[in-house]
Amino acid sequence: MSDTRTVAIVGSGPIGSAYARTILEGSPDTRVVMFEAGPQLTPIPGQSVRNIVDPDEKARAREKSQGPQAGAFRSELGIPESVVVEGMFTARQGTHLLDFGGPGSAHAPTFGAVAAATNVGGQGAHWTCATPAPQFSERVPFIGDAEWEELIAEAGHLLHVQSAAFADSRVGEAIRSLLDEEFGAELPDGFGPSTLPVAGDPQPDGTMRWAGADVVLGPLIERGNPLADRFELRDLTLVRRIEHDGARATGVTVEDLRTGERSTVDADLVVVAADAFRSPQLLWASGIRPQALGRYLTEHPVVISTVALDPEKMQRFADESDLADEKARRAVNPVDPVAAVNRIPFSEPDHPFSLQVMYSETTPFPMEPGAPHAENEWGYVNMGYGLRKRPRVEDGVRFDDNELDWRGFPNMTIEYALTGDEEREIAAATERLRRAGNALGHFVAEPRLLPAGSSLHYMGTMRMGETDDGTSVADPWSRVWGFDNLVVGGNGLIPTANTVNPTLMSTAIAVRGARKAIEQLRGAEAVSVR
Ligand code: FAD
Repeated sequence: MSDTRTVAIVGSGPIGSAYARTILEGSPDTRVVMFEAGPQLTPIPGQSVRNIVDPDEKARAREKSQGPQAGAFRSELGIPESVVVEGMFTARQGTHLLDFGGPGSAHAPTFGAVAAATNVGGQGAHWTCATPAPQFSERVPFIGDAEWEELIAEAGHLLHVQSAAFADSRVGEAIRSLLDEEFGAELPDGFGPSTLPVAGDPQPDGTMRWAGADVVLGPLIERGNPLADRFELRDLTLVRRIEHDGARATGVTVEDLRTGERSTVDADLVVVAADAFRSPQLLWASGIRPQALGRYLTEHPVVISTVALDPEKMQRFADESDLADEKARRAVNPVDPVAAVNRIPFSEPDHPFSLQVMYSETTPFPMEPGAPHAENEWGYVNMGYGLRKRPRVEDGVRFDDNELDWRGFPNMTIEYALTGDEEREIAAATERLRRAGNALGHFVAEPRLLPAGSSLHYMGTMRMGETDDGTSVADPWSRVWGFDNLVVGGNGLIPTANTVNPTLMSTAIAVRGARKAIEQLRGAEAVSVR
């Protein structure tokens, strides 16, 4: 019998990658096979497409990530000819709508903007890289503070988080000063306007190399690194089923999307990190159906606006040369200009919101020349308040065994509604957005609530819980209740109502799950490797 343990990981986003890295670093007699339904986009697997300099190449990488909405690339991605996409509406570049309209598309009448990415690196190849840490009631209540801080630090290390990115920008500092004048006195110490932590590595020329799953995988994809010998990534390989005996996972059945061939891979541990909708769908399709599976869906309702910065206000804290410096930095990489990114974090009891303020030289929409505040010398900010959605069993995804989706899985119907609690906080956040806008300048786009599903932060559908009381899918170490070697990962684990961008938090939860898995693998007898 071989002594090598095999871990099968479904999904190559930041969370599957955090499992792979942590397990391989901590478990010397283990190999990891990672299965990804989408294609590898960049020579280094899992890179952020924002790092691709050539605009055409960048556009191609995004389109290839769009599954059924991948246009001319669909045939090379194994998408059947018969999949019809209705209408021209696509999701944000690099993602595809779940409810794309054709036969076999999901049904999401009240959550229409819901989207996913299908590529090596997952949504983590397309994300904005904002990585603030959860605070107060946003945290998982049953993980102690000291352990949590250490998990967040490790997650930050895996994701290459910078907490003071662009802190030297004087324009950014001026924006913070104006926001502080408006809100500072109302906010607890340490929770006022600050720079937004982001995941990436600042380069000597002032640009940022944005982090994707590549940095999380780190040594696993480094030529010559011994860890790389125990890691295998299979792209365009769809996991169709988790094999199990009702109490233990025994492996996965996969389909090679290039050839259509199916095979089964035995495993000592299976990790499902295939996003907040497709992970529960895979569990359901495999006959693993905890009561809470797919329920308690939350996201961040988002209220946004665009504001032209007022020169007089800005010049109280910055001058023309500071503005020139900011523009020069942005010009280094015109395809992905980086600039001042600020925020006001969530705090309790009075600020249950997360404000993100992105500086930009232009508006994200065309403005008529001569319109008020068009071609504003001091530029603009795109600002948004992220809000919390209270978890409710009524919100979630249901799966229909009698109606298959375009990939042949039980199709999804998503049910979701805001309640009075959210409506009240949306009204309060809208009011604050007006105050923030007036403090900084002049609105060129009025505050508005984005359609449900727009946040791309979908949580709660595989929530972790302290006890198996029917309101959670996984135990405090992310193991599906009733299984000790089937682990789930991703934003779906988050059980709280939070406002914070979820990836850092989900990575911290994954590190905890991976450490427990290492302990178990140590004691387990290895399956024979096929
Ligand atoms: P994903 O990254 O979604 O990866 C899951 C992978 O599983 C996918 O590649 C998918 O193809 C694969 N998969 C699914 N089913 C199967 C199957 N059956 N077999 C094999 N593979 C399968 N978060 C933040 O915290 N901050 C931000 O600033 C931020 N900005 C964002 C901006 C955009 C435009 C987008 C799209 C997302 C953003 N997010 C942000 C969300 C962030 O990207 C996700 O939280 C993160 O990627 C989740 O990681 P994951 O590994 O759980 O899932």
